Amino acid sequence: MSSTSTTRRSFLARGAVLASVPAIATLAGGVLAEPASADDTLPDYAPIPPSALGPALNAQGYFVGRVEKNLYWVTDGTYQAAFLTTRDGVVLFDAPPTIGDNLQRAIDEIASANGVSSKVTHIVYSHHHADHLGASSLFGRDVIRVGQIETKRLLARDNDPTRPLPDVTFETHHTLRVGGERIDLAWLGTNHTPDNSYIHFPDHDTLMLVDIVLPGWVPYDSFNLNEDVPGSIAAPAKAMAFPWKHFIGGHMGRLGNRRDLVIYQQYVNDLIDGVKKALVAVDPTPFFAKYGDNSWAAVKTYQDAQVNYAAAPVIKKYTGVLAAADVYTASSAFVILESVRLDLGVGSQIHP
Ligand SMILES: [Zn+2]
Repeated sequence: MSSTSTTRRSFLARGAVLASVPAIATLAGGVLAEPASADDTLPDYAPIPPSALGPALNAQGYFVGRVEKNLYWVTDGTYQAAFLTTRDGVVLFDAPPTIGDNLQRAIDEIASANGVSSKVTHIVYSHHHADHLGASSLFGRDVIRVGQIETKRLLARDNDPTRPLPDVTFETHHTLRVGGERIDLAWLGTNHTPDNSYIHFPDHDTLMLVDIVLPGWVPYDSFNLNEDVPGSIAAPAKAMAFPWKHFIGGHMGRLGNRRDLVIYQQYVNDLIDGVKKALVAVDPTPFFAKYGDNSWAAVKTYQDAQVNYAAAPVIKKYTGVLAAADVYTASSAFVILESVRLDLGVGSQIHP
């Protein structure tokens, strides 16, 4: 099949999903009482490179495919989960609510084709966030849930019935063995969240690390809302230290590879270089001269100028390479600017 027709089918599948959005908004009492139509006042963005898109979704709105051997991945085009079929049942990795009941449909589809059990016996949690775990409760109470110790603490804090607490926890390393299969879990420091874990499949040449690198795409708004910016910047190198060929990033429509992590590291390094230059090059004088006693107005406009100085060449370089470079690079540049200032101390001056 040509890539053009694959892209077109992906587009049509996504269109079907998006078509339900106005109906949902109406149900929720939203303002969209009329079917959505193109709004000329909305900004235009650069086209998405075809390399950012994955396989077409089926009529139920998901795609399930083999990663390697008995390891599979599921996507709705935006979120990803994975599962391993074993002789003793299925191990599920994350349960995004947007995929929801399609998780079991995908598992049933693969299990019946291969004549293995479709019963989910274990769910491994990548990190505590609801957008990756909110369908966990669909699998009932008898499932063994596995997560890092901080995942359990944060879930206890959040007290959300859709995300039952892990039954099995670990601090730094845990090897999970189910039905003759091996999964190595590791906690290597805080990054996106305090609890985010590296899920390594040594017999399947695969690493799952969620919410750090989104293959084919720039990070989501404000550097992916990463709680620990230096820890998140350091995470891809830790991921690369594991042996693997296939990467499950938890987001968007396709699997990743080692090249995706290299591009991501280049993108982040270019942003760091850009903000370091901006801290030296952008003159604060006109902003403070104009706004006088309104310090926040001066700081905001000064930092907007620094962000623009840092982001503009990065947007230009990565447009056509990473999807949505023109959508979210500026907000990530601001977060990285603050980290370079506050964590690294660049641009800090001691009053004489
Ligand atoms: Zn997250």
